[in-house]
Amino acid sequence: MAILKVARLGHPVLRQLSAPVPRGQIRTAETQRLIDDMVETMREYNGAGLAAPQVHVLQQICVIEVHGNPRYPEAPAIPLTVLINPVVTALTEETEDGWEGCLSVPGPYAELPRAFRARVDGVDIDGRPVTIEATGMAARCLQHEMDHLEGIVYVDKLPEEVRDRLLAEAAGPGGELPA
Ligand code: ZN
Repeated sequence: MAILKVARLGHPVLRQLSAPVPRGQIRTAETQRLIDDMVETMREYNGAGLAAPQVHVLQQICVIEVHGNPRYPEAPAIPLTVLINPVVTALTEETEDGWEGCLSVPGPYAELPRAFRARVDGVDIDGRPVTIEATGMAARCLQHEMDHLEGIVYVDKLPEEVRDRLLAEAAGPGGELPA
């Protein structure tokens, strides 16, 4: 296994659409190794989730895990979940504000609304159909990772003045603002 390089905000790979993984490719050594490496990379950086575009691979794969995570001390545990070709559906119009960060935007966090309840349909690491229904923090994680597969980063959803402040904080003093 290996720790992969995580793309930072400003890298064009974070802005591209990821392609579905063909069914016959899921069980290949290459895909299985990528998933193993994504899990290891997420854990190394204490992330609650990681999407393939964040490690420079434009495929619809993401991993999620919240388990005694020091970045999210208040969050309930979510077991390791691998989602391939996932489609997210909001199950309620009700939204909840919550704090979010991203391994591609090191440093700051921001509060933003997400659907309180969501469902994801996809396939798992063995290519078997999987459906997950989640609420609260888990639903937030799912929506955050699904966005990455569409080239969306959570900062896009913030009001402009909040986003500008957050990006300045991420860039540091004298740093260049990412786009
Ligand atoms: Zn992210």
